[in-house]
Amino acid sequence: MYVRLPFDELKVDPTQKKRVAYFYDQDVGNYFYGTGHCMKPHRIRMTHSLIMNYELYKKMEIYRAQPATNLELTQFHTDEYIDFIDRVTPDNLGLFEREQIIFNVGDDCPVFDGLGEFCKISCGGSMEAAARMNNGSCDVAINYAGGLHHAKKSEASGFCYLNDIVLGIIELLRVHPRVLYIDTDVHHGDGVEEAFYSTDRVMTCSFHKFGEFFPGTGNLNDIGLSKGKYYSVNVPLRDGIDDASYKSIFEPIISKVIEWYRPSAIVLQCGGDSLSGDRLGPFNLSMRGHANCVSFVKSFDIPVMVLGGGGYTIRNVARTWAFETGILNNVILPKELPYNGYYEYYAPTYELDVRSSNMNNANSEEYLDKILTSVLANLDNTKHTPSVQMNEVPSSSWNFDDDVNEDDEKDAIDTNGGSQYARDKAIQPDNEFYDDDDIDRGEKNISDNGNTNTNGNGNGVATSNGNGSHNNLEEDTTINNGNKSNNVTLTDDEVNEIEQLNEED
Ligand SMILES: [Zn+2]
Repeated sequence: MYVRLPFDELKVDPTQKKRVAYFYDQDVGNYFYGTGHCMKPHRIRMTHSLIMNYELYKKMEIYRAQPATNLELTQFHTDEYIDFIDRVTPDNLGLFEREQIIFNVGDDCPVFDGLGEFCKISCGGSMEAAARMNNGSCDVAINYAGGLHHAKKSEASGFCYLNDIVLGIIELLRVHPRVLYIDTDVHHGDGVEEAFYSTDRVMTCSFHKFGEFFPGTGNLNDIGLSKGKYYSVNVPLRDGIDDASYKSIFEPIISKVIEWYRPSAIVLQCGGDSLSGDRLGPFNLSMRGHANCVSFVKSFDIPVMVLGGGGYTIRNVARTWAFETGILNNVILPKELPYNGYYEYYAPTYELDVRSSNMNNANSEEYLDKILTSVLANLDNTKHTPSVQMNEVPSSSWNFDDDVNEDDEKDAIDTNGGSQYARDKAIQPDNEFYDDDDIDRGEKNISDNGNTNTNGNGNGVATSNGNGSHNNLEEDTTINNGNKSNNVTLTDDEVNEIEQLNEED
């Protein structure tokens, strides 16, 4: 059944237009898990810098999502856990000795300054991405601060605290009868699988290293329970898988899943730890081998949310996510890296490339054939796509009154005192709200000459208000001191950089 496909050069069709919404919060790169910790949110800022300097801002809409509120987070997580994540800091850790154990916070998942805020940025991005897919305003939504697939309902795990993916999918389920989740991180997507293990509304499909490897779940035989039986797919792989082997197992499985399950929305987790040379992952994918998954999923023309995830050799993660953002915008980015704020990280090649190494591929053709045969046999049971009673769609939980909303907003502002979010809120006039519906979504957030449409608040950043913008776009508003649709998310430094680049042109 397994046929080793040739790995051809990736192609895009520049005449094809996708409406891409890209979510980025400039605060995200400032959070720090601690000295020596593998997880570095800074990689998201490096990715962003490459994306901007490759001028992809001309192709897509750039947004800074409203950080998720506590109430929104409890759609999946427990109240107690959210309360803990919201309140715990390195300084008051002593007050939470019991909770640290219960919620599995410690070595892998340390408490760091601004932890709650970091989680809310990650989750807010994926929830707003889902909301924009739901109202049909984009075909592709990207949030590299998301993809934190290990987080459980009331437990941190594997550098993940809150599960932005589950929250995003819950949001999608309000509109979409069936959502397909695909996970290409080197680790099993256990948190997402667990959340939807007994439902046929979400099909999860994880490709991961299996065998003496974190988190230890994701066996071939784990296929879902009760109504969800056959709606969890696990593809356990061995060390050293290369581009052609990965493609040859990924493409036939995803093709069959889409053909038989017929999802109306896809969430693609693009963990960068499946790249060759990752600090933690033992796979051997090149940048192109990794990006082929993005390209292949995109080719089905189904609305897709693209998320980050793991990835611990950060220069390669940034390269790959930038390249993949190009693919999603139908551009093959040139090999020569543009000058950018983190140029020195890309020494000695200064090229947009991650190459495979000569490591041994422990996935024999016989092994991959066994996996593929078994997965396709299970999938055969999903041939008759479940007909969903749309009255099963969770009803909107956003009818909370204004008092609750205000409290949530205060919480969001107060967690770290000095965030960009707090500063933005502080300078927003009360009387200048614009209906999001008025926004011309086709208008770019940055004019073609690279200047931001500065909006008078001094930092070129527009924020939506706190009225549940992830969940009710009709009430979503943008505040920008008089100009509409300036959802710009550049720092002053980035604006200056881009202006300089344009002057050089
Ligand atoms: Zn991972």
